[in-house]
Amino acid sequence: MYRIGHGYDVHKLVEERKLILGGVDIPYEKGLLGHSDADVLVHAVCDALLGAAALGDIGKHFPDTDAKYKNADSLVLLKTVCALIREKGFEICNIDSTVIAQKPKIACFIPQMRQNIAETCGIPVDLVNVKATTEEKLGFTGEGLGISAHSVSIIKNISSAV
Ligand code: ZN
Repeated sequence: MYRIGHGYDVHKLVEERKLILGGVDIPYEKGLLGHSDADVLVHAVCDALLGAAALGDIGKHFPDTDAKYKNADSLVLLKTVCALIREKGFEICNIDSTVIAQKPKIACFIPQMRQNIAETCGIPVDLVNVKATTEEKLGFTGEGLGISAHSVSIIKNISSAV
């Protein structure tokens, strides 16, 4: 059986924070604010996978009230999510995602983001897609106040455990 999941996340852009997207440290004057490393793309991917498996969301598994996740590498969280998915008898068919940011330009970092996500999930890189767009200077992303990301994923049941 095939199942689909969707993830959406937003983080605020502030000074004196690193900008980490898809596990890539992107040079920029601002970074995303959050309890973990605030990797909005990886958080959306986690939620898409958890959603497909009906396992709730990232906040349920990694609460921001837990000191353990302070400045956490979100790829480590993704790895845990993938382990949960596999425990439930699912395999990832593909992941697609979109990062919405007015600035900076991130297109040249996309191959590395795909590589990081694919490696963390233990799947071939051609099953992972990352796109980037702006919102034409409209809204909070357009004004550079934050960055958002959407992700969808299809997973498939490979065991009779579910
Ligand atoms: Zn987040």
